[in-house]
Amino acid sequence: MAHATRIAVVGSNMVDLISYIHRMPGEGETVEAPDFRMGCGGKGANQAVAAARLGSEVVMVTRVGDDVFAETTLKNFEDNRIGTEHVLRTRASSGVAPIFVDPESRNSILIIKGANALLTPQDVEEARDAIARCELIVLQLEIPLETVAAAMALGAELDIPVLLNPAPASPDLDLSRITGVEFLVPNESELELLTGMPVDGIEDIQRAAEVLLAAGIRNVIVTLGARGALWIHEGGRELIAAPAVRAVDTTGAGDAFIGCFATQWVRTRDVAEAIRAGTAYAADSVTRQGTQSSYAWA
Ligand code: ATP
Repeated sequence: MAHATRIAVVGSNMVDLISYIHRMPGEGETVEAPDFRMGCGGKGANQAVAAARLGSEVVMVTRVGDDVFAETTLKNFEDNRIGTEHVLRTRASSGVAPIFVDPESRNSILIIKGANALLTPQDVEEARDAIARCELIVLQLEIPLETVAAAMALGAELDIPVLLNPAPASPDLDLSRITGVEFLVPNESELELLTGMPVDGIEDIQRAAEVLLAAGIRNVIVTLGARGALWIHEGGRELIAAPAVRAVDTTGAGDAFIGCFATQWVRTRDVAEAIRAGTAYAADSVTRQGTQSSYAWA
């Protein structure tokens, strides 16, 4: 049996509140909606769940509020065999995302970060011993940037590689702050915002990624939706195609890719092989509805 992979995720959790509507209410108006569903999400939690379902031991460092959504999130972590020792409670609202889906499947989404905005560098420090036992630290940008920076600094200090998914794209992310990252995994629009360069086609993407390599990032892996992912590193580039599938819902595909890539890279230390596994896992997830509900178990 493959050895247990240990991964730390320092990031967000959200509860998606999905209302299926005929139409949005106008100002001062109340309308009935035919259906409602609740689901667990947040980029950090999604990536943690994907990794855990593929056999990783995940240390999740995150904050929930003091409401019913916190219970839902904690239970979800437990159901997915994710340790909750560093899931901290806060006197605040949990992160929630009210989502409105119309009959044409068009989404309108509100994000209330709630407790996620209160995850501090001190919280990362308090998880130091647990993080020190991990082989990869996985980060995104749904928590304060100073907390992301603290996790990157801890990775450097402990000599643990860091994977940064610069999502959601943030104009406040300064390239000089992420130079020690082992894996930067943006999608095309995140790459464009980060570098200020066009990303129309593979050659453009390579040029933008080379700016990141020159800044000290060792591997840039750009996810390309149905086209798969492009890996740019000092030795060259490799386009790894995603299997062709009939996509029904692509939400959370990027997070599925990262959770799988992280697990497979820690297991094999083979970047190309981990990207292949990530694209296949994410492609499989888009054939089913939902975010975490579309992630397969190993
Ligand atoms: P999201 O924000 O929805 O999570 P993203 O923009 O971060 O997505 P994408 O680049 O769209 O990420 O997709 C991530 C990976 O998911 C791709 O590299 C690919 O492997 C897989 N994928 C996404 N869409 C498709 C599709 N239509 N067919 C096959 N694979 C897909």
